[in-house]
Amino acid sequence: MNMNNETACVHGAQLFEPVTGAISVPIYQTAPFRHAELGKSTGFDYSRSENPTRKALEQTVALLEHGAYGLAFATGMGAVSAIIKLFPPEAEGAGKKTHCIISEDLYGGTYRLFSEYYAQYGYAFSWVDTSRFSAIEAALRPETKVLFIETPSNPMMKVTDIRACADCIHQTGGYLIVDNTFLTPYFQNPLDLGADFVIHSGSKYLAGHNDTLSGFIVHSNTAFAEPLLKIQRSEGATLSPFDAWLTLRGIKTLSVRMEKHQTNGRRVAAWLQGHPAVEKVFYTGSSDHPQFALSQKQARGHNGMVSFYLKEARMIPSILSNIKLVLFAESLGGVESLITYPLIQTHDAIPEAMRRSTGVNEKLLRLSVGIENPDDIIADLDAAMR
Ligand SMILES: *Cc1c(COP(=O)(O)O)cnc(C)c1O
Repeated sequence: MNMNNETACVHGAQLFEPVTGAISVPIYQTAPFRHAELGKSTGFDYSRSENPTRKALEQTVALLEHGAYGLAFATGMGAVSAIIKLFPPEAEGAGKKTHCIISEDLYGGTYRLFSEYYAQYGYAFSWVDTSRFSAIEAALRPETKVLFIETPSNPMMKVTDIRACADCIHQTGGYLIVDNTFLTPYFQNPLDLGADFVIHSGSKYLAGHNDTLSGFIVHSNTAFAEPLLKIQRSEGATLSPFDAWLTLRGIKTLSVRMEKHQTNGRRVAAWLQGHPAVEKVFYTGSSDHPQFALSQKQARGHNGMVSFYLKEARMIPSILSNIKLVLFAESLGGVESLITYPLIQTHDAIPEAMRRSTGVNEKLLRLSVGIENPDDIIADLDAAMR
């Protein structure tokens, strides 16, 4: 069935549960599934391998991302960890490392996982500003296997050209992985632009209510379907039935939430831009964002993520302790507005020199603008910034 974006969010891959007709996918809270006799199975045997609630969600996220295969993990980091294992150094030959080019401005946890763990296991990483295509070309080697990008990036909201990246990495026979957490499939579909894999932290906009964690990989590569399933099921960082249900429930309202995050994000970004204590605002939906044209080309809208530099870093402690409605907490993408101090929170794992080069400094705050009335968000910020 052909469905538009909003309809696909509401109905998902499974319009109703076929046995009882339940409109909401039931939470199959079970570990094993009974077999009728030897060699006969319902298709389910143990929930780590497969669970009907998780399966409905995996198919829904695959549908929304225009991919053939969807895999759900307990967290976004579970998904990131699984996808990188698809390219083991042993496959490269004795003593060879798997070379990966990674966006330098990215989620701090992904940086930590790659630099502190995978670097020990035969992976080599080049951290580059992927929003500058020449920087990717300069880092590219004949053996580069993976190009991993976040766009828009976190927290500096840089935009990377997905199609150009796909064309570039495919020349060396490598693969493009796009972390689409910030825009969600409602606004951006990297697979349509040539990406090989999309990953998500479903803990953010997809689930959308700051109440659960989940992670996803979506792709259409049949050759990788079995190997990825094997990694997911063997490692066991799979999503629980209840968290799968919460994420499914969140996705039903993804379209209305993203539209409201966008409107509120725009309002708050414009207000900050006019504030005398603010030095600079980073919001992809502002027409003066340096890559506004690229965003318009590859995405259908903008999120509620707004970063900004204050003129004076010494204002930050008092803003963070005086803010009331906007909560000082380190996540994003939920209905509640949150404010983060990236330098010591989300991006603490990133070395000083790299933070400097990306622009994460002591003057930077990051807002995840929620879906409250924007006047209330602005009034709260205004009071805290006095
Ligand atoms: C939060 C986040 C992750 C990690 O996801 P978890 O669900 O917290 O494990 C990865 N990438 C981006 C862009 C994120 O915002």
